[in-house]
Amino acid sequence: MADSKMAKAKLGEFLAAVSADYEVYGPKADNGVVTFGRIASADELALTYSNSTVSAKELFLPKTETVYEFDGENFVDDPLPEQKRVVLGLRPCDCRALTLLDGTFDCERVQDPFYVTRRANTVLVALACDRPLSSCFCTATGGDPYGEEGVDVLLSDEGESFLAKAVTDRGKDFLEQYGKFFSGKAAGKWAERAKAASGKMTCDLSLAEVSQRLDGLFEDDMWERVSQKCIGCGTCSYLCPTCYCFDLIDDKTATGVKKIRRWDCCMFQSFALHASGHDPRPITAARFRQKIMHKFNYHPQRCGLNSCVGCGRCVRACPVNLDIRQLLGDILAAAPSAASE
Ligand code: SF4
Ligand code: SF4
Repeated sequence: MADSKMAKAKLGEFLAAVSADYEVYGPKADNGVVTFGRIASADELALTYSNSTVSAKELFLPKTETVYEFDGENFVDDPLPEQKRVVLGLRPCDCRALTLLDGTFDCERVQDPFYVTRRANTVLVALACDRPLSSCFCTATGGDPYGEEGVDVLLSDEGESFLAKAVTDRGKDFLEQYGKFFSGKAAGKWAERAKAASGKMTCDLSLAEVSQRLDGLFEDDMWERVSQKCIGCGTCSYLCPTCYCFDLIDDKTATGVKKIRRWDCCMFQSFALHASGHDPRPITAARFRQKIMHKFNYHPQRCGLNSCVGCGRCVRACPVNLDIRQLLGDILAAAPSAASE
């Protein structure tokens, strides 16, 4: 479908029509905190945010979910989340983050049924980013404020209307299904708008070589130094759209037990603790190194891409102001010969 356009005045009517066919989720603001939740009307949508405080990750990988239950006699799988959903207004960096999570939960080796079902049943209608924050660095990681990776439909806020562009066949079908709300063939200045947005990015890091530089830094004493301030709170990982560590726990029920998957975090002291009492990462520096190595060395070696989309949430939310961009800059500044020794 060619570019099209929807007047913002039609948003309420559009949402009512979409809600008849799908569960609709979008950004909601509460005291300045923007999270993704179920949307019942256009009034609830907070579409003027720069980036959400919490990413849309939990719509695909909930904080906790029951995987199966043993009722004392039988094992019963929890029903798969079959409902059709639309997530409206998430940023391109969060859509790109989902393509990275696919590499873990929907790949040749692993097909996580809950994750795969949610991904298959969800249309992603992203809103391009015209006002990136000073903490955003998506372009350094290969993304873009107008990026289309993982996006089904891309919207751009033109003031009185939204420009809309189908990126995938699923997006094309979606725009056609609700075609009466869009005026067809609205030639949008996508390239100009995208250029203006990426021109506002302030980070000039280039992370193409960071994985290679990290190869020789495992034993480096820099980890002690850079992690000195870290209090291991896990905020960075919980807000990160690409972090996916989880734990499986048993919860007793009246007749049996439930197996529950819940988010975990490699920055926590107990994360790597073995049942024997041995802890291969007993100090903060080792845990901090694990997080950085996983994102920028192990993940690219396994999947070809850094596990960071430059959303900047960890920069904005860290209580002790640890800035991952500064650390990456230091790693890149390390002499290649020293790094590969
Ligand atoms: S948010 Fe900051 S202090 Fe908390 S674990 Fe992450 S780096 Fe450490
Ligand atoms: S590491 Fe930080 S900047 Fe990168 S995706 Fe995670 S939260 Fe965003």
